[in-house]
Amino acid sequence: LLAQLADLSDQPAITLDGVVVRLLTNAGLQADIEPGLRHGAEGVGLYRTEIPFMVHSSFPSEEEQVSIYQKVIRAYQGKPVTMRTLDIGGDKQLPYFPISNEENPALGWRGIRFCLDNVQLLMTQVRAMLRAAEGHGNLRILLPMISCTEELESFIELLDDACRQLKAEGYEVVRPRLGVMVEIPATISQLERWASRIDFVSIGSNDLSQYLLALDRNNARVSQRYDSLHPSVLAEISRVVEIAGRCKLSLSLCGEMASDPSAVLLLLGMGVRTLSLSAPRLPRIKWLLRSLKEAEARALWQEVAKLDSATAIRGRVERFLDERG
Ligand code: PEP
Ligand code: MG
Repeated sequence: LLAQLADLSDQPAITLDGVVVRLLTNAGLQADIEPGLRHGAEGVGLYRTEIPFMVHSSFPSEEEQVSIYQKVIRAYQGKPVTMRTLDIGGDKQLPYFPISNEENPALGWRGIRFCLDNVQLLMTQVRAMLRAAEGHGNLRILLPMISCTEELESFIELLDDACRQLKAEGYEVVRPRLGVMVEIPATISQLERWASRIDFVSIGSNDLSQYLLALDRNNARVSQRYDSLHPSVLAEISRVVEIAGRCKLSLSLCGEMASDPSAVLLLLGMGVRTLSLSAPRLPRIKWLLRSLKEAEARALWQEVAKLDSATAIRGRVERFLDERG
């Protein structure tokens, strides 16, 4: 079976009735680059820049960041590389810059909020990304934990400044495509208003589920209640798919759901056509997509959308998977 899965690396993720799904990979460590390519990822859907920051002993300089980012961008050549700006805070801490004394870290100083309050740090990172992509044209920038228009506007101003600065310094930079993570529920109703200012959205189903359900999956007391197949989580994701389609925003999903076969079936049925997942999980998901019809997934989603609990939904989808072997 392993050999069979390995053979799929240069095959497209296409369903039996001809629907193509784009499979991208999540990365962060240098060591993630090669496995993604080997398993046939069509690009990087989520490069978590906090990971290189975490393995450093202090904030990496602009030059250091250029060299880290260049390795990914060059390795993927013409394929898209989606770099997310620093997403620390909450459960992600830098050893040399702990953010403590917060009563609710998940609701605290994290993601784009932290970065916009440390604008020099963000400017350094954005300059490094643009410089690393010079002459390659495959960089896309993704913003984590966005919840309001002011944050988006502040970032766009900073991005335009960075482009101007670098051009004045003689770099041949191109303005990258810009996207936002959909992981704070309040983002969803804003997407339509942001559509002319952004190019793509990426659903962060881990945080989106956490905030919709008010459940910390790292808290052992409640984690067994956490399930992204909760009807309300699925309904919100389906809403995002509908809005993105209507507003011509390209859409992907980069949370854990992208590597859960049951979730992938339902996402396919809802109309999600791009997934980003960790490299070792790519072969299994590609195999699954190639073994069924999109029409079946759509019918299954329509059926389970009427069910009223994650348990019932998971049970039904697992039965479908079992019947298919
Ligand atoms: C998510 O929240 O689903 C996500 C992909 O971001 P992270 O796991 O890095 O918080
Ligand atoms: Mg997240």
